[in-house]
Amino acid sequence: MRRLLGLLSLALLAGGALAQQAKPLPPKPSVKAPAAAKIWLVREIAQINEQQVWLFGQDGASIGVARPEQLRSLLSVFGKLEQISGINSELYLSEGSEPDTWLAQGKGDDIVVRINLGLVTLLGSDWDAWAFVLGHQLAHIEAHMRNRNELQRREVGAPPPSPRSPDEDEKLADGLGLEWAIRGGYKPDGGIRFLTRLAQRGDPGTMFLRRHPFYPGRLDYVREASLNVPAPAPRR
Ligand SMILES: [Zn+2]
Repeated sequence: MRRLLGLLSLALLAGGALAQQAKPLPPKPSVKAPAAAKIWLVREIAQINEQQVWLFGQDGASIGVARPEQLRSLLSVFGKLEQISGINSELYLSEGSEPDTWLAQGKGDDIVVRINLGLVTLLGSDWDAWAFVLGHQLAHIEAHMRNRNELQRREVGAPPPSPRSPDEDEKLADGLGLEWAIRGGYKPDGGIRFLTRLAQRGDPGTMFLRRHPFYPGRLDYVREASLNVPAPAPRR
């Protein structure tokens, strides 16, 4: 961590010096991916006091741009959902222009949430839609942990619990994620808006839809689920 912060401050210093040169402005400050995979810890980028930072791979190739302020807001949505769900995770930003989000193994038993640059571009500052998507991912973690606990608890020789189908997995994550989002004070139409946009793209081959299949009646299910969650008490 200290080494990464060292790299960060070096990059920032270099950015400050170079920014004074004649145009065109160099793409600084920058954040280098800490590993060969082109992923960055959202918390690290959010700490940077700049309007935008350039993301670099280990090979020095520029991957894209991130806005720390946007990521700070995103972390605040994520933190609220973590609190409500009782699940602690970590948020990572990954390369890729086709909107996508998935879970990955973190340190030890931890499961982390990855979002890519394409999803950040698609959702922008639609925090209600973000709350749905991030709640959905935390719900996938919750389901994974429940499965694991169930397997550990079962008696020796007992048959393993029957696995859920991908559609059932998605339904569970949609319902639970939406409930957490609503309890966090986010509007359910964010989820409906996001799913409608996905459905309109009409391309089941995208990575997002391959990971999170669009089960029949999904929009109706989410609409109905949103009616069953009581609205949160107004904030003081
Ligand atoms: Zn899913």
